[in-house]
Amino acid sequence: MERCPGSPRPDMLPEAGSLWLLRLLRDLQLAQFYRPILEELNVTRPEHFDFVRAEDLDGIGMGRPAQRRLAEALKRHRSGLKSKNWVYKIFGGFAPGQKETTPPSDSLPSLPEPDGRLKCLIPDRAVCRGELLGSGCFGMVHRGLWTLPSGQTVPVAVKSLRVGPEGPEGTELEDFLREVSVMMNLEHPHVLRLHGLVLGQPLQMVMELAPLGSLHARLTAPAPTPPLPLALLCLFLRQVAGAMAYLGARGLVHRDLATRNLLLASPRTIKVADFGLVRPLGGARGRYIMGGPRRIPFAWCAPESLRHGAFSSASDVWMYGVTLWEMFTGGEEPWAGVPPYLILQRLEKDRARLPRPPLCSRALYTLALRCWAYHPADRPTFSDLEGLLQEAWPPEGRCVREVMEPGALRMEPGDPITIIEGSLDSTTWKGQNSRTFKVGSFPASAVTLVDPPPATRPVLRGTPARGERHQRNADGDRGKAKLQDAPQARGQRRNVALQRTKGGAECAWGHPPGVPGCSKSHRGRCGFCHPEPQGKVRPFSWFPPFLALPSGSQLPVLPPPQVEQLFYLSSWSRADCRRILERYQWDLSAASRYVLAQP
Ligand code: AMP
Repeated sequence: MERCPGSPRPDMLPEAGSLWLLRLLRDLQLAQFYRPILEELNVTRPEHFDFVRAEDLDGIGMGRPAQRRLAEALKRHRSGLKSKNWVYKIFGGFAPGQKETTPPSDSLPSLPEPDGRLKCLIPDRAVCRGELLGSGCFGMVHRGLWTLPSGQTVPVAVKSLRVGPEGPEGTELEDFLREVSVMMNLEHPHVLRLHGLVLGQPLQMVMELAPLGSLHARLTAPAPTPPLPLALLCLFLRQVAGAMAYLGARGLVHRDLATRNLLLASPRTIKVADFGLVRPLGGARGRYIMGGPRRIPFAWCAPESLRHGAFSSASDVWMYGVTLWEMFTGGEEPWAGVPPYLILQRLEKDRARLPRPPLCSRALYTLALRCWAYHPADRPTFSDLEGLLQEAWPPEGRCVREVMEPGALRMEPGDPITIIEGSLDSTTWKGQNSRTFKVGSFPASAVTLVDPPPATRPVLRGTPARGERHQRNADGDRGKAKLQDAPQARGQRRNVALQRTKGGAECAWGHPPGVPGCSKSHRGRCGFCHPEPQGKVRPFSWFPPFLALPSGSQLPVLPPPQVEQLFYLSSWSRADCRRILERYQWDLSAASRYVLAQP
């Protein structure tokens, strides 16, 4: 642990820098709170009050009427500082010319969180950092312990902003603070919770700990870690759809939905995390258009994001389809081996889509294909997806007789079976034995349905998924789909010899007893206390795609991206946008200012 309660606090800023605070408090006859505010809450600049909640001030003994006086005085004090203030610059508007739909927290918001704990400013000394959990684009994430004023301790994750020799500067600081400002306003059972911010050096975000790490690490954990049951993957998909519907309803687009950014808070609870790329949906078309060259996760992106830098809830839905694909391939990399600049071409010209993973039922794959509809308007919304998932949910059965036939999926009476393919009138079904995690075909007569599929559920076997059999090629003709060869699913590749033991309860992962490496105490290979490998792989590449081209080559299909970006920002035609850009010598921001200034 680096710093523990009671240990001396490293000095932060000289007191001369906080004279403004003393003056302000004196004017309000609250000078007695100068030291506690400075030393307990670490407030050294007016903008730090953005992160102070009523409960923090309660904690230093300031009454509510005094808090209101302070809030008023701060508003007056800051109105003169607003333009210079770095927090306002960042939180006051995400991108020039974009309408922000989720208001940033204003001074001293006094609403307590539902569970009584607050997203607040956390004193430096109240947080101990422990082992490294991983690293992201801003810096390191450590396991930590947060000591509340009551003395109670809470396990947390602490994300620290990487500090260069010149201090935290530029887009990293902006993105870090943007992530804080977004997370401060979120409250959902499947969205990672921000507890507060430490205004130390470095800046630190104190977040809810997801003790089991990322879903991607879990999916790709080496044998003998057993794969996750298919029914659990469906549960995760439903949780993620709910969280994403919540984000969309708050006018936010995540832009980096992938299994690497889904964290396991418990064996059956997933949380959407990593809000560094989140942006507010603005503009005339409810989109966010990227301003300049930035790195984006190409293989997860919708065509309109790759072509125009346009992101929306519908592009998040596309990413959700890719995330589903990751889950059912055991964390394979989408479009592995295809260079970023060719992915767009494959999606648009060849109308190619990621192939159906063998573990994914046709109904679920159909759902993924709907997420990958070319036109954003044709994709389901996240609220639709919650219902569609229910319909595509793989039926559960139970084995009623031993199956030992060669080539058939082995099972014993009582084994829970998740059915991947099978209809009531077919004699052979395909499924996963949830005791052994093996997948294969078996006689339908060996399994009874525990939960018969509702009448609305599509017949699963023998019906090719929509879009799988016929897809339009670039010329609009119907033809055979050009799908990549299906990579072998990890769950099928692994051929772990599993012991069979009887009796005992399932572990919290849903693993029955006897699965190698699993222990009910979760001290084995289930992921508990096992931090994932450090350094998240971020398969990002440059937007616009020509920035990722090997030198000397050209991407033939792309029109100038500035034209598209201007087109989506405005109500002008593409030809007009091109003329305006020419007039402004292809300076996109100058041209944007011009079109936005027009009535
Ligand atoms: P990020 O900077 O958000 O990309 O996080 C980098 C890595 O740190 C992730 O891939 C996780 O392995 C780990 N991590 C981040 N946040 C948490 C958390 N709240 N609980 C546990 N591990 C986390």
